[in-house]
Amino acid sequence: MTDKKALQTALIHSDYKAPSGFAAFPTAIHHASTVLFKNVAAMRARDWKEKTAYTYGLHGTPTTFTLEARLAAIEGGKYCLLAPSGLAAIAMLDFALLKSGDDVLLPDNVYNPNRDLGNWLAQDFGITARYYDPMIGAGIAQLIRPDTQLVWTEAPGSVSMEVPDIPAICKAAHARGVLVAIDNTWSGGIALRAFELGVDVVMQALTKYQSGGSDVLMGALITRDKALHHRLELAHMRLGMGVSADDTYLVLRGLPTLKLRFDAHDAAARKIAAWLKTRPEIARVLHPALPDCPGHETWKRDFSGAGGLFSVVFDARYSETQTDRFVDSLNLFKIGYSWGGSNSLCVPYRIQAMRKDWTDPGQLVRFNIGLEDPADLMADIEQALSTL
Ligand SMILES: *Cc1c(COP(=O)(O)O)cnc(C)c1O
Repeated sequence: MTDKKALQTALIHSDYKAPSGFAAFPTAIHHASTVLFKNVAAMRARDWKEKTAYTYGLHGTPTTFTLEARLAAIEGGKYCLLAPSGLAAIAMLDFALLKSGDDVLLPDNVYNPNRDLGNWLAQDFGITARYYDPMIGAGIAQLIRPDTQLVWTEAPGSVSMEVPDIPAICKAAHARGVLVAIDNTWSGGIALRAFELGVDVVMQALTKYQSGGSDVLMGALITRDKALHHRLELAHMRLGMGVSADDTYLVLRGLPTLKLRFDAHDAAARKIAAWLKTRPEIARVLHPALPDCPGHETWKRDFSGAGGLFSVVFDARYSETQTDRFVDSLNLFKIGYSWGGSNSLCVPYRIQAMRKDWTDPGQLVRFNIGLEDPADLMADIEQALSTL
Protein backbone atom coordinates (compact mmCIF):
# COMPACT_ATOMS: atom_id res chain seq x y z
CA MET A 1 0.00 0.00 0.00
CA THR A 2 2.74 2.44 0.95
CA ASP A 3 4.21 2.05 -2.57
CA LYS A 4 1.09 3.29 -4.29
CA LYS A 5 -0.27 5.92 -1.89
CA ALA A 6 1.00 9.40 -1.37
CA LEU A 7 3.12 9.89 1.72
CA GLN A 8 0.30 11.73 3.49
CA THR A 9 -2.03 8.74 3.04
CA ALA A 10 0.72 6.30 3.95
CA LEU A 11 1.17 8.22 7.19
CA ILE A 12 -2.40 7.27 8.06
CA HIS A 13 -2.94 3.85 6.45
CA SER A 14 -0.43 1.14 7.23
CA ASP A 15 -0.53 -2.61 6.65
CA TYR A 16 1.81 -3.31 9.55
CA LYS A 17 0.38 -5.33 12.41
CA ALA A 18 2.34 -6.08 15.57
CA PRO A 19 2.83 -9.82 16.08
CA SER A 20 -0.03 -11.39 18.02
CA GLY A 21 0.57 -13.46 21.13
CA PHE A 22 1.92 -10.68 23.34
CA ALA A 23 1.19 -11.31 26.98
CA ALA A 24 1.87 -9.24 30.12
CA PHE A 25 0.16 -8.53 33.44
CA PRO A 26 -1.10 -4.98 32.80
CA THR A 27 -4.27 -4.34 30.83
CA ALA A 28 -3.51 -2.64 27.51
CA ILE A 29 -4.45 1.03 27.24
CA HIS A 30 -6.83 1.39 24.31
CA HIS A 31 -7.40 4.98 23.22
CA ALA A 32 -10.42 5.12 20.97
CA SER A 33 -13.31 7.31 19.93
CA THR A 34 -14.00 5.45 16.66
CA VAL A 35 -14.27 1.69 16.90
CA LEU A 36 -13.84 -0.16 13.58
CA PHE A 37 -16.35 -2.65 12.13
CA LYS A 38 -15.43 -5.31 9.61
CA ASN A 39 -18.40 -4.48 7.39
CA VAL A 40 -21.83 -2.83 7.45
CA ALA A 41 -23.58 -6.00 8.63
CA ALA A 42 -21.23 -6.21 11.62
CA MET A 43 -21.90 -2.54 12.37
CA ARG A 44 -25.67 -3.01 12.22
CA ALA A 45 -25.57 -6.16 14.33
CA ARG A 46 -23.96 -4.51 17.33
CA ASP A 47 -25.95 -3.09 20.23
CA TRP A 48 -24.03 -0.53 22.30
CA LYS A 49 -25.90 -1.63 25.43
CA GLU A 50 -24.50 -5.16 25.31
CA LYS A 51 -20.93 -5.29 26.52
CA THR A 52 -20.11 -8.33 24.40
CA ALA A 53 -18.64 -6.24 21.55
CA TYR A 54 -17.47 -2.73 20.76
CA THR A 55 -19.41 0.09 19.10
CA TYR A 56 -17.90 3.43 20.10
CA GLY A 57 -15.24 4.61 22.53
CA LEU A 58 -17.84 6.15 24.83
CA HIS A 59 -19.54 2.79 25.31
CA GLY A 60 -16.40 0.89 26.16
CA THR A 61 -13.00 -0.46 25.16
CA PRO A 62 -11.13 -3.52 26.44
CA THR A 63 -9.51 -1.18 29.00
CA THR A 64 -12.75 0.20 30.46
CA PHE A 65 -14.59 -3.13 30.27
CA THR A 66 -11.78 -4.71 32.30
CA LEU A 67 -11.96 -2.07 35.03
CA GLU A 68 -15.76 -2.33 35.16
CA ALA A 69 -15.63 -6.10 35.54
CA ARG A 70 -13.02 -5.91 38.29
CA LEU A 71 -14.91 -3.28 40.26
CA ALA A 72 -18.14 -5.28 40.00
CA ALA A 73 -16.27 -8.32 41.33
CA ILE A 74 -14.77 -6.36 44.26
CA GLU A 75 -18.22 -5.12 45.38
CA GLY A 76 -19.95 -8.44 44.77
CA GLY A 77 -22.04 -6.86 41.99
CA LYS A 78 -22.59 -7.85 38.36
CA TYR A 79 -22.58 -4.66 36.31
CA CYS A 80 -20.55 -1.49 36.46
CA LEU A 81 -20.46 1.85 34.69
CA LEU A 82 -17.57 4.32 34.89
CA ALA A 83 -17.94 8.07 35.20
CA PRO A 84 -15.35 10.88 35.00
CA SER A 85 -15.59 11.57 38.77
CA GLY A 86 -17.36 10.29 41.84
CA LEU A 87 -19.71 13.24 41.65
CA ALA A 88 -20.46 12.50 37.98
CA ALA A 89 -21.46 8.96 39.05
CA ILE A 90 -23.80 10.44 41.68
CA ALA A 91 -25.34 12.75 39.06
CA MET A 92 -25.70 9.89 36.56
CA LEU A 93 -27.63 7.90 39.13
CA ASP A 94 -29.97 10.81 39.96
CA PHE A 95 -30.66 11.58 36.30
CA ALA A 96 -31.23 7.89 35.54
CA LEU A 97 -33.71 7.26 38.33
CA LEU A 98 -35.46 10.58 39.00
CA LYS A 99 -37.84 12.64 36.92
CA SER A 100 -40.05 15.65 37.48
CA GLY A 101 -42.63 14.86 40.18
CA ASP A 102 -40.40 12.37 42.01
CA ASP A 103 -39.05 12.54 45.54
CA VAL A 104 -35.55 11.59 46.75
CA LEU A 105 -34.40 11.16 50.36
CA LEU A 106 -30.80 11.99 51.30
CA PRO A 107 -29.04 11.68 54.66
CA ASP A 108 -28.41 15.00 56.38
CA ASN A 109 -24.67 14.19 56.54
CA VAL A 110 -24.43 13.38 52.81
CA TYR A 111 -21.30 14.30 50.81
CA ASN A 112 -21.87 18.02 50.34
CA PRO A 113 -21.84 18.19 46.51
CA ASN A 114 -24.46 15.38 46.50
CA ARG A 115 -26.59 17.63 48.72
CA ASP A 116 -25.98 20.56 46.39
CA LEU A 117 -27.10 18.42 43.44
CA GLY A 118 -30.25 17.43 45.38
CA ASN A 119 -31.01 21.09 45.99
CA TRP A 120 -30.51 21.86 42.28
CA LEU A 121 -32.87 19.04 41.28
CA ALA A 122 -35.40 20.48 43.72
CA GLN A 123 -35.00 24.05 42.53
CA ASP A 124 -34.92 23.56 38.75
CA PHE A 125 -36.12 20.04 37.89
CA GLY A 126 -39.42 19.61 39.72
CA ILE A 127 -38.04 16.93 42.05
CA THR A 128 -38.37 17.10 45.83
CA ALA A 129 -35.18 16.37 47.80
CA ARG A 130 -35.61 15.81 51.52
CA TYR A 131 -32.94 15.24 54.13
CA TYR A 132 -33.21 12.68 56.91
CA ASP A 133 -31.35 12.01 60.16
CA PRO A 134 -28.58 9.54 59.16
CA MET A 135 -29.34 7.54 62.35
CA ILE A 136 -33.00 7.12 61.37
CA GLY A 137 -32.77 3.38 60.55
CA ALA A 138 -36.20 1.75 60.15
CA GLY A 139 -37.78 5.14 60.91
CA ILE A 140 -37.19 6.03 57.23
CA ALA A 141 -40.51 4.23 56.61
CA GLN A 142 -42.38 7.26 57.99
CA LEU A 143 -40.71 9.56 55.45
CA ILE A 144 -41.41 7.48 52.35
CA ARG A 145 -44.25 8.87 50.22
CA PRO A 146 -45.92 7.48 47.09
CA ASP A 147 -43.70 9.76 44.96
CA THR A 148 -40.44 8.67 46.66
CA GLN A 149 -38.23 6.84 44.15
CA LEU A 150 -34.81 6.75 45.73
CA VAL A 151 -33.12 6.74 49.14
CA TRP A 152 -29.46 7.77 49.16
CA THR A 153 -27.26 6.45 51.97
CA GLU A 154 -23.64 7.09 52.84
CA ALA A 155 -21.82 4.75 55.20
CA PRO A 156 -20.52 6.49 57.20
CA GLY A 157 -20.97 10.20 56.42
CA SER A 158 -17.53 11.36 55.33
CA VAL A 159 -17.25 14.37 57.68
CA SER A 160 -19.41 13.70 60.76
CA MET A 161 -18.99 9.90 60.48
CA GLU A 162 -22.41 8.62 61.66
CA VAL A 163 -22.81 4.96 60.64
CA PRO A 164 -26.32 4.32 59.31
CA ASP A 165 -28.30 1.10 59.72
CA ILE A 166 -28.23 0.09 56.04
CA PRO A 167 -30.19 -3.20 56.38
CA ALA A 168 -33.01 -1.41 58.26
CA ILE A 169 -33.18 1.37 55.67
CA CYS A 170 -33.17 -1.14 52.78
CA LYS A 171 -35.91 -3.23 54.38
CA ALA A 172 -38.18 -0.22 54.92
CA ALA A 173 -37.52 1.18 51.42
CA HIS A 174 -37.97 -2.13 49.61
CA ALA A 175 -41.25 -2.78 51.43
CA ARG A 176 -42.50 0.34 49.61
CA GLY A 177 -40.84 -0.40 46.27
CA VAL A 178 -38.18 2.29 46.70
CA LEU A 179 -34.58 1.83 45.52
CA VAL A 180 -31.59 2.36 47.83
CA ALA A 181 -28.24 3.73 46.67
CA ILE A 182 -25.11 3.85 48.80
CA ASP A 183 -22.05 6.05 48.57
CA ASN A 184 -19.65 3.27 49.62
CA THR A 185 -16.45 5.27 49.10
CA TRP A 186 -15.34 5.24 52.76
CA SER A 187 -15.07 1.44 52.81
CA GLY A 188 -13.28 1.27 49.45
CA GLY A 189 -15.81 -1.40 48.49
CA ILE A 190 -13.95 -3.94 50.62
CA ALA A 191 -14.96 -3.23 54.25
CA LEU A 192 -18.74 -3.16 53.62
CA ARG A 193 -20.60 -5.77 51.57
CA ALA A 194 -23.33 -3.36 50.52
CA PHE A 195 -25.26 -5.72 48.22
CA GLU A 196 -25.47 -8.34 50.95
CA LEU A 197 -27.06 -5.71 53.20
CA GLY A 198 -29.74 -5.09 50.56
CA VAL A 199 -28.51 -2.05 48.65
CA ASP A 200 -29.55 -1.74 44.96
CA VAL A 201 -26.82 0.53 43.58
CA VAL A 202 -23.29 1.10 44.89
CA MET A 203 -21.52 4.32 44.05
CA GLN A 204 -17.74 4.55 44.40
CA ALA A 205 -15.44 7.57 44.12
CA LEU A 206 -12.50 5.68 42.58
CA THR A 207 -10.59 8.92 43.10
CA LYS A 208 -9.95 7.72 46.65
CA TYR A 209 -8.67 4.24 47.56
CA GLN A 210 -8.99 2.49 44.18
CA SER A 211 -6.67 4.97 42.53
CA GLY A 212 -4.62 5.50 45.69
CA GLY A 213 -2.34 7.95 43.90
CA SER A 214 -4.09 11.32 44.42
CA ASP A 215 -3.68 11.66 40.66
CA VAL A 216 -6.97 10.66 39.05
CA LEU A 217 -10.67 11.52 39.23
CA MET A 218 -13.15 8.72 38.47
CA GLY A 219 -16.37 7.23 39.74
CA ALA A 220 -18.44 4.09 39.29
CA LEU A 221 -21.97 2.78 39.68
CA ILE A 222 -22.30 -0.92 40.41
CA THR A 223 -25.49 -3.01 40.36
CA ARG A 224 -26.65 -6.60 40.47
CA ASP A 225 -29.93 -6.14 38.62
CA LYS A 226 -29.84 -6.13 34.82
CA ALA A 227 -32.94 -3.96 34.33
CA LEU A 228 -31.60 -1.38 36.78
CA HIS A 229 -28.22 -1.47 35.06
CA HIS A 230 -29.94 -0.71 31.73
CA ARG A 231 -31.64 2.35 33.23
CA LEU A 232 -28.24 3.59 34.41
CA GLU A 233 -26.67 2.71 31.07
CA LEU A 234 -29.13 4.97 29.23
CA ALA A 235 -28.18 7.90 31.47
CA HIS A 236 -24.49 7.03 30.99
CA MET A 237 -24.92 7.27 27.22
CA ARG A 238 -27.24 10.31 27.18
CA LEU A 239 -25.01 12.29 29.52
CA GLY A 240 -21.85 11.23 27.62
CA MET A 241 -20.01 9.89 30.67
CA GLY A 242 -16.68 9.09 29.01
CA VAL A 243 -13.50 8.31 30.95
CA SER A 244 -9.96 8.51 29.66
CA ALA A 245 -8.05 5.31 28.86
CA ASP A 246 -4.99 6.58 30.74
CA ASP A 247 -7.02 7.33 33.87
CA THR A 248 -8.67 3.93 33.62
CA TYR A 249 -5.23 2.38 33.50
CA LEU A 250 -4.17 4.30 36.62
CA VAL A 251 -7.11 2.88 38.55
CA LEU A 252 -6.44 -0.65 37.22
CA ARG A 253 -2.84 -0.24 38.37
CA GLY A 254 -4.01 0.57 41.89
CA LEU A 255 -6.37 -2.39 42.33
CA PRO A 256 -3.88 -5.18 43.17
CA THR A 257 -2.69 -3.21 46.21
CA LEU A 258 -6.14 -1.90 47.20
CA LYS A 259 -6.63 -4.17 50.20
CA LEU A 260 -3.02 -3.93 51.39
CA ARG A 261 -3.19 -0.15 51.31
CA PHE A 262 -6.65 -0.04 52.87
CA ASP A 263 -5.55 -2.29 55.73
CA ALA A 264 -2.44 -0.16 56.31
CA HIS A 265 -4.53 3.07 56.38
CA ASP A 266 -6.93 1.29 58.73
CA ALA A 267 -4.31 0.08 61.22
CA ALA A 268 -2.57 3.47 61.37
CA ALA A 269 -5.84 5.42 61.66
CA ARG A 270 -7.09 3.25 64.53
CA LYS A 271 -3.81 3.69 66.37
CA ILE A 272 -3.89 7.48 65.94
CA ALA A 273 -7.62 7.74 66.73
CA ALA A 274 -7.19 5.75 69.96
CA TRP A 275 -4.27 7.96 70.97
CA LEU A 276 -6.25 11.16 70.18
CA LYS A 277 -8.99 9.85 72.47
CA THR A 278 -6.52 10.09 75.39
CA ARG A 279 -5.64 13.72 74.64
CA PRO A 280 -7.25 16.40 76.86
CA GLU A 281 -7.60 18.78 73.86
CA ILE A 282 -9.98 16.39 72.08
CA ALA A 283 -13.59 16.02 73.25
CA ARG A 284 -14.74 13.30 70.83
CA VAL A 285 -13.08 11.06 68.26
CA LEU A 286 -15.55 10.34 65.47
CA HIS A 287 -14.04 7.08 64.25
CA PRO A 288 -16.60 4.30 63.66
CA ALA A 289 -14.41 1.78 65.50
CA LEU A 290 -14.59 3.93 68.67
CA PRO A 291 -17.66 4.22 70.95
CA ASP A 292 -17.75 8.06 70.62
CA CYS A 293 -18.96 7.64 67.04
CA PRO A 294 -22.74 7.49 66.48
CA GLY A 295 -23.49 4.08 64.95
CA HIS A 296 -20.40 2.41 66.43
CA GLU A 297 -22.46 -0.74 67.21
CA THR A 298 -23.78 -0.81 63.64
CA TRP A 299 -20.23 -0.51 62.34
CA LYS A 300 -19.21 -3.51 64.46
CA ARG A 301 -22.12 -5.51 63.05
CA ASP A 302 -21.81 -4.60 59.36
CA PHE A 303 -18.20 -3.63 58.57
CA SER A 304 -14.97 -5.61 58.40
CA GLY A 305 -12.64 -2.59 58.42
CA ALA A 306 -12.42 1.18 58.63
CA GLY A 307 -9.77 2.71 56.37
CA GLY A 308 -7.98 5.97 57.04
CA LEU A 309 -10.64 8.68 57.34
CA PHE A 310 -12.03 9.99 60.63
CA SER A 311 -12.81 13.26 62.43
CA VAL A 312 -12.28 14.74 65.87
CA VAL A 313 -14.22 17.36 67.81
CA PHE A 314 -11.99 19.63 69.86
CA ASP A 315 -12.86 20.60 73.40
CA ALA A 316 -15.26 23.57 73.24
CA ARG A 317 -12.77 25.82 75.02
CA TYR A 318 -10.78 26.12 71.76
CA SER A 319 -11.90 28.73 69.24
CA GLU A 320 -11.85 28.28 65.48
CA THR A 321 -8.79 30.55 65.36
CA GLN A 322 -6.97 28.15 67.68
CA THR A 323 -7.92 24.96 65.83
CA ASP A 324 -7.09 26.65 62.50
CA ARG A 325 -3.65 27.37 63.97
CA PHE A 326 -3.42 23.69 64.93
CA VAL A 327 -4.12 22.66 61.31
CA ASP A 328 -1.68 25.27 59.96
CA SER A 329 1.01 24.00 62.34
CA LEU A 330 0.98 20.44 61.01
CA ASN A 331 3.96 19.54 58.84
CA LEU A 332 3.40 16.00 57.56
CA PHE A 333 -0.37 16.48 57.29
CA LYS A 334 -1.18 18.71 54.35
CA ILE A 335 -4.34 20.77 53.93
CA GLY A 336 -6.53 19.54 51.08
CA TYR A 337 -9.71 17.72 50.14
CA SER A 338 -10.02 14.07 49.15
CA TRP A 339 -8.36 11.03 50.74
CA GLY A 340 -7.24 7.49 49.99
CA GLY A 341 -3.77 8.49 48.76
CA SER A 342 -0.43 7.87 50.50
CA ASN A 343 -0.22 11.38 51.95
CA SER A 344 -1.92 12.37 55.17
CA LEU A 345 -4.37 15.27 54.98
CA CYS A 346 -6.23 17.43 57.47
CA VAL A 347 -9.27 19.68 56.89
CA PRO A 348 -11.31 21.75 59.39
CA TYR A 349 -15.07 21.82 58.72
CA ARG A 350 -17.62 24.38 59.92
CA ILE A 351 -19.97 21.57 60.89
CA GLN A 352 -22.36 23.82 62.85
CA ALA A 353 -23.07 25.76 59.63
CA MET A 354 -23.46 22.54 57.59
CA ARG A 355 -25.95 20.82 59.94
CA LYS A 356 -29.04 22.39 61.50
CA ASP A 357 -29.27 19.65 64.13
CA TRP A 358 -25.60 19.77 65.24
CA THR A 359 -25.46 20.92 68.89
CA ASP A 360 -21.82 20.19 69.80
CA PRO A 361 -20.03 23.59 69.98
CA GLY A 362 -16.48 22.17 69.53
CA GLN A 363 -14.49 22.61 66.30
CA LEU A 364 -14.50 19.60 63.94
CA VAL A 365 -11.31 18.60 62.14
CA ARG A 366 -11.05 15.67 59.72
CA PHE A 367 -7.94 13.55 59.26
CA ASN A 368 -7.02 11.33 56.33
CA ILE A 369 -4.30 9.03 57.61
CA GLY A 370 -1.87 8.24 54.80
CA LEU A 371 0.81 5.60 54.58
CA GLU A 372 3.53 7.41 56.57
CA ASP A 373 4.81 5.85 59.83
CA PRO A 374 2.06 6.41 62.45
CA ALA A 375 4.63 7.39 65.10
CA ASP A 376 5.78 10.30 62.92
CA LEU A 377 2.18 11.34 62.29
CA MET A 378 1.42 11.32 66.04
CA ALA A 379 4.55 13.37 66.75
CA ASP A 380 3.39 15.87 64.14
CA ILE A 381 -0.09 16.11 65.72
CA GLU A 382 1.44 16.42 69.17
CA GLN A 383 3.64 19.39 68.24
CA ALA A 384 0.66 21.06 66.52
CA LEU A 385 -1.54 20.48 69.62
CA SER A 386 1.09 22.31 71.67
CA THR A 387 0.37 25.49 69.64
CA LEU A 388 -3.26 25.55 70.82
C1 LIG B 1 -14.66 12.29 47.01
C2 LIG B 1 -16.03 11.81 47.28
C3 LIG B 1 -17.00 11.82 46.29
C4 LIG B 1 -16.79 12.41 44.92
O1 LIG B 1 -15.69 11.94 44.24
P1 LIG B 1 -14.95 12.87 43.15
O2 LIG B 1 -14.25 11.92 42.29
O3 LIG B 1 -14.05 13.79 43.93
O4 LIG B 1 -16.03 13.63 42.43
C5 LIG B 1 -18.24 11.31 46.62
N1 LIG B 1 -18.51 10.84 47.84
C6 LIG B 1 -17.59 10.82 48.81
C7 LIG B 1 -17.95 10.27 50.15
C8 LIG B 1 -16.33 11.31 48.57
O5 LIG B 1 -15.41 11.32 49.54
